[in-house]
Amino acid sequence: MRKPVIAGNWKLYKTKDEALALIEELAPLVAGVDNVEIVVAPVFTVLPTLPAALAGTSISLAAQDVFWEEEGAFTGEVSPRMLLDAGASHVIIGHSERRQYFGETDQTVNKKIKAALKGALVPIFCIGETLDAREAGDTFKVLERQVRGGLEGLTETQFAPVIIAYEPVWAIGTGKVATDEQAQEAHAFVRGVVARMFSKAAADKVRILYGGSVKPDNVKGLMASPDIDGALVGGASLKGASFASIVRYGE
Ligand code: PEP
Repeated sequence: MRKPVIAGNWKLYKTKDEALALIEELAPLVAGVDNVEIVVAPVFTVLPTLPAALAGTSISLAAQDVFWEEEGAFTGEVSPRMLLDAGASHVIIGHSERRQYFGETDQTVNKKIKAALKGALVPIFCIGETLDAREAGDTFKVLERQVRGGLEGLTETQFAPVIIAYEPVWAIGTGKVATDEQAQEAHAFVRGVVARMFSKAAADKVRILYGGSVKPDNVKGLMASPDIDGALVGGASLKGASFASIVRYGE
């Protein structure tokens, strides 16, 4: 019912030539996959280089962030219209690294999600608790605050394209993956918040990806959980072979 999404977050890696080499390796390995949506998210400067290389593949292009204004005196920022112009169809918003190092808040995330939707980009909206929050028993409280804050003011129709990524901060880049049970529990909770905010139909439709040390050898177990609809993959998306085997988790 919900088509899985496997998205690769390349973070601050890959120049143009390196990105092209990665796509050259990846594209044939995922050729013919039509039961999974595949997305890659390079740095801004690489975006315009990739559409030609992705033509004829089913791989979509995402940016890693966006600003909420269309244009103006906002040095260093990139608008939704500019991302579309560069060939992106998706954008990661609220990644924990942006929350942690660049002052991203639920309020700025909310503005960015609204701007992305207005600009016809699909937001990949990231949420997730820190280790301290989990150990204090605050996981659900944090997730509910992030979901409600990030999606505040959206109608159900506006919300429809949004993809949510649950990424426990303690599992990102640490090699410490959440157990299938921990991930499933969080995903089911987040789906419940969406149901309470919008409707059961909206909750049944939204794709909720898991992120945090997803690798070829743990993806299958995660994807077997009923509320996990895909993965946001960092480190393991930087090599064609490992990302392709995550994309092909069901084979
Ligand atoms: C991420 O960057 O969103 C991520 C989950 O990274 P990693 O897979 O390396 O933990």
